[in-house]
Amino acid sequence: MRLLITAILCAFIPAPVDAAAQQPFSVGQVTAAPGTTASGTIQIPARPGDEGTALPISVIQGTRPGPVLALVAGVHGQEYTPVLALQNLRRSIDPKTLAGTVIMVHVANMPSYLARTIYYSPVDNKNLNRVFPGKADGTISERIAEVITREVIERATHVVDLHCGDGNESLRPYLYWITTGAPQVAEAGKQMGLAFGMDHIVVDRERPADPKASVYLSNTAITRGKPALTIESGGMAEIDTDSIARIERGVAGLLKHLKMREEGPDPVSSPVVLERTEVLRSGFTGIFLAAVEKGQTVAQGAVIGRVTDFHGKVLEEIKAPFAGEILYVVGTPAMNKGEPVGFIGSTVRSVGRSGREPSPATCSTGSSHRQSTHACSAPRRGSRRPA
Ligand SMILES: [Zn+2]
Repeated sequence: MRLLITAILCAFIPAPVDAAAQQPFSVGQVTAAPGTTASGTIQIPARPGDEGTALPISVIQGTRPGPVLALVAGVHGQEYTPVLALQNLRRSIDPKTLAGTVIMVHVANMPSYLARTIYYSPVDNKNLNRVFPGKADGTISERIAEVITREVIERATHVVDLHCGDGNESLRPYLYWITTGAPQVAEAGKQMGLAFGMDHIVVDRERPADPKASVYLSNTAITRGKPALTIESGGMAEIDTDSIARIERGVAGLLKHLKMREEGPDPVSSPVVLERTEVLRSGFTGIFLAAVEKGQTVAQGAVIGRVTDFHGKVLEEIKAPFAGEILYVVGTPAMNKGEPVGFIGSTVRSVGRSGREPSPATCSTGSSHRQSTHACSAPRRGSRRPA
């Protein structure tokens, strides 16, 4: 009798909670069963003015419950190292040993990628990373942003926007730690940044707090209470293996940090924390030639580069506003008035006479004229960052 009761009880004892709780995970039409990887596309239908596009995505669904980590590459058209890193990561992340879910957007800005444009979409001339959270009935960039917000960011618990210098930017690797979210979100973002392992961290205190006008991809996550990072590794449209490997290593560190995988590299122990940064801009359209290299340390007043007219007459010498390190410098001659020529950072935080930081530049979400990938309201010199 006792045996019979035991047998009956056993028949009704549920399977272990972890195994039972892990369900298939769908993004758009792409569904991954537990322990599998699935790939496909999210269609963005045509509307008057454009023919739509498609976002290639992958979903890696682990065998145990855990966080949902979204990795987005290709927000800017000539930023190739993150695109290639995701190719490798899609192969190397084993769903059978994964806890939780990884969502990959392999190329977020397909129109810009296919047309090989920097900064802006060739279709609507907008910077995808300035139109979040997007609009369902908007231009192509706004519709891409809306789909990424709804299908990827809303579904994720943690988000990483993977960038490098665009096709004209010679960049030393760094990531942005964004402090503008709720304190616990900012702290979680900081821990993600350390886990990503990059040795230079730019502290970004200026992103907007309104989820309806979040502007940037990573900030769209943060304003929705999800920790997020923006990272930069690579540049100049090069596909150098070090920059790709750095991204792969960073994701591996994150997977360990988020307890999605047991193995992985340790967090960076003592990164260079850049408390003050400034984008330096050209006052003229013409030919830009850099006088410094990425990663170079410069004194206050050092010449960063010169803008000449098309006959060779020097129009402007752009100088370092403070001593610091060159995080990126434009490496190709084409230059439009108001565009960035470089980005400088210092570990010394800027303090005004009032004892407070200077007020940040305001940020326009719908700029369609040729500023830069990094321009917001296009102050001649602003603290706005790349990505
Ligand atoms: Zn970018």
